Amino acid sequence: MVADPRPREDIAANLATVRAAIAEEAKAAERAPDDVTLVAIAKTYPAEVVRQALDAGHRVFGENRVQEAESKWPDLKQAIPDISLHLVGPLQTNKARNAVALFDVIETVDRPKLARTLADQMERTGRRPSCLIQVNTGEEPQKAGVLPADSDAFIRACREDYQIPVAGLMCIPPIDEEPALHFALLREIARRNGVDGLSMGMSADYPTAIRFGATWVRVGTAIFGARPPIKPSAA
Ligand SMILES: *Cc1c(COP(=O)(O)O)cnc(C)c1O
Repeated sequence: MVADPRPREDIAANLATVRAAIAEEAKAAERAPDDVTLVAIAKTYPAEVVRQALDAGHRVFGENRVQEAESKWPDLKQAIPDISLHLVGPLQTNKARNAVALFDVIETVDRPKLARTLADQMERTGRRPSCLIQVNTGEEPQKAGVLPADSDAFIRACREDYQIPVAGLMCIPPIDEEPALHFALLREIARRNGVDGLSMGMSADYPTAIRFGATWVRVGTAIFGARPPIKPSAA
């Protein structure tokens, strides 16, 4: 395996810092600290780096690509059965079977065809990962997620027609807008639909997200350090 060229972060210390910040924000919002689950986003970091977080006792992780997760997690999950793995990136229908087989939480359910395919795979395999519905709160054309105006109907369809286990909503606010507006919108959609879970907040804004009710925060760089810049894909 190629050596990781990035400088070694003190991952255990970073985890402790983020956990302390979560506890502080939860307390300020008069919420229990264990009401907020830290999902350590491990995309682009190799298994040896992830290992350091596991050694520090962390168990909840996220990946944004099915293929990358398949190359990294099956052995770790075999060795440490209480790992919980979240898919936080867009899911193509033709990868739904692999996603159901590997992930414990699928955060990016956003269209009927995908919900139906997930339901079929759950029926076939008996594995039922929790599902979050991704809402495109910023209505950005390039971004995945159901539009806010369509979200009530889609949540109802997921529950009643496809009967997948809806555990919450997820959003990724536009990078150039005040995230609090998006967190408030997601919370309102959850409230009026009787949905409990809210996945929102990343390294830059998870304290704000906790104030707006996040039950999962998805934190990558604040734990693992900077990711390499995304390379333009080779032609
Ligand atoms: C990469 C990623 C994160 C983590 O982002 P950081 O800024 O590194 O904390 C959170 N959510 C999603 C969907 C991501 O793709």
